[in-house]
Amino acid sequence: MTQAATAKESAPGPGCTAAELVDFLEKQLLQYNGPEPSPEMLLVPGLERLCAYINEIKAVLAEFSAGRFDRDIKCGGNTAGLLKALRGNIRHLTWQCLMVAEGDLSQRVDFMGEFADAFNRMTASLAEYRDILEQKQTELLAMTETLRQEVKLKEDALLALAASEETYRQKSLRDSMTGIYNRGYFFETAEREMENLKRSKDDSLCLLMIDIDHFKIFNDTYGHLCGDQVIKMVTGAIDRILRKSDIFARYGGEEFVLMLPAANLNRGRIIAERIRMTIANSPSPARDGQSITISIGLVCINQSELNPATSGQQLLLSAIERADIALYSAKTNGRNCVSLYTRA
Ligand code: GH3
Ligand code: MG
Ligand code: MG
Repeated sequence: MTQAATAKESAPGPGCTAAELVDFLEKQLLQYNGPEPSPEMLLVPGLERLCAYINEIKAVLAEFSAGRFDRDIKCGGNTAGLLKALRGNIRHLTWQCLMVAEGDLSQRVDFMGEFADAFNRMTASLAEYRDILEQKQTELLAMTETLRQEVKLKEDALLALAASEETYRQKSLRDSMTGIYNRGYFFETAEREMENLKRSKDDSLCLLMIDIDHFKIFNDTYGHLCGDQVIKMVTGAIDRILRKSDIFARYGGEEFVLMLPAANLNRGRIIAERIRMTIANSPSPARDGQSITISIGLVCINQSELNPATSGQQLLLSAIERADIALYSAKTNGRNCVSLYTRA
């Protein structure tokens, strides 16, 4: 028997020696691409299966090292079982990360040592920050609500202030007893109308001074309270006849002034007469029905007569003076009539 034949006989299987087999298996395990078994080696029972097992484990490890954990592990045994367990843990970790991403900060890792500590500290800190943020958000919402209420209160107060200012402004323009405009308002607006007349396309305006006849006697006879009712009746009745653009005010006592902007003499006469008749025909507040009458002095101011250099105030005072003269004429003409100012 030759030396070679003796070596073959000492091999663990037919076709190769134990040393060759160990060398082959070592390469299979340690090299990425292990050698192909020789036909002689393939005669060793179970070697092909073992090679397939080693290659499957190596392929799984290669996938794991590349970060891929979805490969189906096609072999069994303890080693494959450990790899399956590792794959299961990694998959669970992936799922836990997903849960954290969706806001579940209760996730804890109980394997992988330092990584587990780091992961658990991360989720614990995130949970802490989230609690703080939620607390801050609640505080912010409460502050926003308080601020909104304060703004609303301030807005309401401003609106109330504006409303009361408007009420006071209106009151300051009006006579408290009759509700018609007062003398101050009349002068302010009538002066403006006079200024407008100087440059407007309207030719004229009319001014009326109105005075209740024999009012002193009326007061003496029926009392001042009844006299007050007469003043209110007169102003109310006149007010209802007028247009919005007319300026009607209490000049003082039982005297009233009325400006009819853009009115010519004809219209002034018609309105004055209508006012006089309306009052004369109105029911009297006197217990015995004593009729009330008024006298009216009327002046018509034509644009052509106006000196453009004269101020609105001067023009108004001059118009009032003339209307007063006309009123005096109405009184001397027997009262309850309209008198037109005419140059002497
Ligand atoms: P005439 O026809 O010439 O105008 O005579 P008159 O009596 O109306 O005129 P006079 O100026 O002599 O008197 C006006 C009266 O009006 C005197 C005053 O007591 C009264 N009077 C003024 N204001 C009021 C008021 O607010 N209420 C009452 N009840 N009387 C007033
Ligand atoms: Mg009078
Ligand atoms: Mg008078």
